[in-house]
Amino acid sequence: MNTNNRGVLIVISGPSGAGKGTICKALLEKHKDLYLSVSATTRSPRNGEVEGVNYYFLTREHFQAQINENGFLEHAEVYGNCYGTPKANVEQMLEDGKDVILEIDIQGALKVKENFNEGVFIFVLPPSMEELKQRIIKRGSETKESLMTRFKSAYQEINYISKYNYAVVNDTVEVAASKVEAIIAAEKCRVDRIKDTILDSKEGFIHEQLYD
Ligand code: 5GP
Repeated sequence: MNTNNRGVLIVISGPSGAGKGTICKALLEKHKDLYLSVSATTRSPRNGEVEGVNYYFLTREHFQAQINENGFLEHAEVYGNCYGTPKANVEQMLEDGKDVILEIDIQGALKVKENFNEGVFIFVLPPSMEELKQRIIKRGSETKESLMTRFKSAYQEINYISKYNYAVVNDTVEVAASKVEAIIAAEKCRVDRIKDTILDSKEGFIHEQLYD
């Protein structure tokens, strides 16, 4: 099967507070040919969040029904809420040759890797643990207890970095986003992704020269 016209799956992951969402936003604003997969979640919408844009907000029952129907590429429980990547959307976009970003937690990224080893797995790191703590505090949406949970998880999660292909330190959003852009550009030039397309067009060229 020639898989070269398929889009590239880009998984952006890392601890809560590392800034993966901000990096994705910057990338999507600049690159209209990148698509963000909209996840499903059981958590309640925050102020300003829109159904179908930020998330599909589901009840636990509906979420479970999606799991039963094998509707998720991956799903995980993150800080007491369920999150999942709708499978059909992502597969269709990749099939259509679109490059798709998943902005998901580390458990989810590791599950995706089991089935999509050809994906590009990028780990976003905070500049320091102190900075991570400050960013989580600044969000203001956390209680002291949930702040500690997130902070402890971040310590554990950084151990999984060796499962990823790339690590990007999110010092400033502009620099981090431009590093992710460079990674995507390089990945799209990889011989194993494009060789069949090049060899096919070469065959077409020779055929035209000889027989047309
Ligand atoms: P938040 O509730 O702050 O929007 O997201 C909490 C965490 O869930 C973040 O780390 C975010 O990346 C992660 N997340 C969002 N969507 C998904 C998803 O579809 N699957 C998984 N595994 N994690 C997700």
